[in-house]
Amino acid sequence: MLIARFPRLSLAHLPTPLERLDRLTATLEGPTIWMKRDDCTGLAGGGNKTRKLEFLIADALVADATVVLTPGAIQSNHARQTAAACARVGLDCHLVLEDRTGHDDDHLANGNVLLDQLFGATLEVCGAEDDPATVLEDAAARHAALGARPYVIPGGGSNPIGALGYVNAAIELVGQANDIGLDIDHIVHATGSAGTQAGLVAGLTAIRSGIPVLGVSVRANTTAQEVAVLDLALATADHIGATGCLTADDVVVDDDQVGPGYGLATDAMVDAMRLVARTEGIVLDPVYSGKAMAGLIDRIRRGAYDRAEHVVFLHTGGAQSVSAHRDVLGEGRATANRDRS
Ligand SMILES: *Cc1c(COP(=O)(O)O)cnc(C)c1O
Repeated sequence: MLIARFPRLSLAHLPTPLERLDRLTATLEGPTIWMKRDDCTGLAGGGNKTRKLEFLIADALVADATVVLTPGAIQSNHARQTAAACARVGLDCHLVLEDRTGHDDDHLANGNVLLDQLFGATLEVCGAEDDPATVLEDAAARHAALGARPYVIPGGGSNPIGALGYVNAAIELVGQANDIGLDIDHIVHATGSAGTQAGLVAGLTAIRSGIPVLGVSVRANTTAQEVAVLDLALATADHIGATGCLTADDVVVDDDQVGPGYGLATDAMVDAMRLVARTEGIVLDPVYSGKAMAGLIDRIRRGAYDRAEHVVFLHTGGAQSVSAHRDVLGEGRATANRDRS
């Protein structure tokens, strides 16, 4: 398995730090918690999509594309990082953003939307009645008719090319752990469009690390998400020449933190975000990493891990959406009243 044979751009600040979270660990009185800081990949504020985009944008350049199109939720972190990556290499960027529920102004104009606009992307918003795939195809055809050469990236950058970013992350993480003599017992992270978990599982099994991964689903139920991750992990293993390195047993997802649905707040998510912010000074996000951390905390409280174990939480980013979620995270205006303390 040689990742270096695939076209790749350097977009991310790598390796991302691997940090031990002592105050969070002490508060939860469970296993030692480490955090792999993929919120610090650098581009556009960071996040997991930047690792995928190193391979996807390189492929777009090989294909001689002039415009990149990709879909996402209105507050998509993938859309933001794609817009920034395109700006970085001088490609046009067209985002098809789905607005499915009645959102407030912060959700529709702040956070990632504000940044998409700053990076100069074209935004096309589609509603619940539209099929995003069709809207995206139509947009690509429109660009082609005007003489542009479109390159379409699937939602979340999740195909075998994008997943290479997380094959690479798996190798990077195991190398870091080896350097400091850390024996990782578990990896926990948020799973959505499946590319992160698929790449990690393919990479970790290809190098026979033996480290189990738990994906905390933010949308699909356990069965559907495990099928999506397994399909992509198998295709990714083929892509890197490691066919046969993994089986269905290597793909484990839990849907117990989805709550009312994708992007919709849960009390456990808000509690997890506040706890990590107040013990470690680290910002999680309400849609992905906050729910994944809620899943980890719940497991620790239920005694799922031994105190002697070491758990790595992969922070996949998303803090740039926080200002779009003032309705659930905000505590009102700062006050000038000095009597309040
Ligand atoms: C996209 C995203 C995820 C999920 O990663 P997938 O590869 O889509 O499963 C997790 N966290 C954040 C912050 C994301 O933006």
